[in-house]
Amino acid sequence: MQEKVTFNIDKNKNFSEWYTEIVKRAELADLRYNIKGFLVFQPFSVLTMENMYSLYEKKLQEKGHLPYWYPAVIPESNFLKEKEHVKGFSPDVFWVTSYGDNQKLEEPLALRPTSETAFYQMFSLWIRSYKDLPFKTYQRAQVWRYETKATRPFIRSREFYWIEAHDAFSSLEEAEAQVKEDMETTKEMLHDEFGIPFIFFKRPQWDKFAGAVNTYAADTLMPDGKVIQQPSTHLLGQNFSKPFDVKFKDKNGEDKYCFITCYGPAISRIFASLISIHGDDNGLIFPFKIAPFQIVIVPVLIKGKEKEVLKKAKDLQKKLAEKFRVYLDLREENMGEKFYHWEMKGIPIRLELGPKEAKSSEVTLFRRDTRKKEKVKLKDLVKKIEKVGEELTKNLIKKADDEFKNSIINVKNFSELKKINGKFVRVNFCSIDKDGEKCAEKIEKETELTVRGIRSDVKEKASGKCIVCNKEAKEVVYLAKPY
Ligand SMILES: [Zn+2]
Repeated sequence: MQEKVTFNIDKNKNFSEWYTEIVKRAELADLRYNIKGFLVFQPFSVLTMENMYSLYEKKLQEKGHLPYWYPAVIPESNFLKEKEHVKGFSPDVFWVTSYGDNQKLEEPLALRPTSETAFYQMFSLWIRSYKDLPFKTYQRAQVWRYETKATRPFIRSREFYWIEAHDAFSSLEEAEAQVKEDMETTKEMLHDEFGIPFIFFKRPQWDKFAGAVNTYAADTLMPDGKVIQQPSTHLLGQNFSKPFDVKFKDKNGEDKYCFITCYGPAISRIFASLISIHGDDNGLIFPFKIAPFQIVIVPVLIKGKEKEVLKKAKDLQKKLAEKFRVYLDLREENMGEKFYHWEMKGIPIRLELGPKEAKSSEVTLFRRDTRKKEKVKLKDLVKKIEKVGEELTKNLIKKADDEFKNSIINVKNFSELKKINGKFVRVNFCSIDKDGEKCAEKIEKETELTVRGIRSDVKEKASGKCIVCNKEAKEVVYLAKPY
């Protein structure tokens, strides 16, 4: 075997370098597209995100959501209807204002930064009676936001890929129950399928979605200890149903406004957490179910004996493709290079097939997470792959959970906050209503942390004083350093 050029970057020590390099060398995205903040997603990220989309959409459909495809543009008149929403999103919106030879459009069109103002205009036409409710919808779509902060591939860019679910109900209680369901869905997908641990927070009033009554968001940590927001769910109450006239006739024939919720898992951003949390110093590791290819077959071709090896490799590919996503690597590279390439790309299982194996009834199986090799009898291979795939995914989830367990630090003094670099910081805090905003501003100004909110999975009782203003603490809040 020739000398290997391995990836070999210490992920936990040099995460920023690891991330930049893996995006480039594993060919996940190309940043050289000539508009700032926009990038080209390459096959390995697209194939994986397709699998993530498919699992997520299946789950939403199981829970009664139906898919729609809305236009990418929203008329200005829709966009301006809800005041808080306009205030929050205006700075980010791309506008389409002309066509052809600089002819003005009759009305400026927003490239959707999010689609509340598109969905609810149609809700007002579709929803008539209590019998139409609950009305649960979603779409998979790209959205565009003019981000001014530094962009990073998959983490923050001016175009991203997500799902947005929009649901209408006849009562506040049902809408609140939907918010809970969205949190459960997040657990079932992010944690149980993708292996990403997180904490769900109720966001402070000053940090909620523009136009929402309340916002709940899942935060996870990257290997450098910085926090990244994952899916959020918003109780919109009647804030949008009133300006958009989303009404229904109740059982007594009276007109009532709907209660609305929306939920937004950003697939491209979840992908960022997925690769960062599971990768190691040798590159990516994909969970088995969503890997772009689950198995790669690498035939070891030795002069004079290629023919029988190739035949066996092709037969094996054909057989395995009935159950799995399989890639047969016939590139003209040396073995070392091929092994390194697929390890770096995170393919869960590699099968090596040489002249010896071609004659015998065995194949060598390499498993990406443990990097161990073993001989497997061909007749047991399918079962073995299923077992290894399952074990590998479980192993990734457990490893991620174990690391996440130690991610909360308790801090009592404000001065200590200035020294903290990463992880969740748990502090006593005066209030997440309007009154606490000044204290949050001070934290943001004098430390690198932001207030993420109070936990929505467990009730925590505050005792003592607010870490900033020294008034009586009403809440236990979590702080973290964002991207
Ligand atoms: Zn305070």
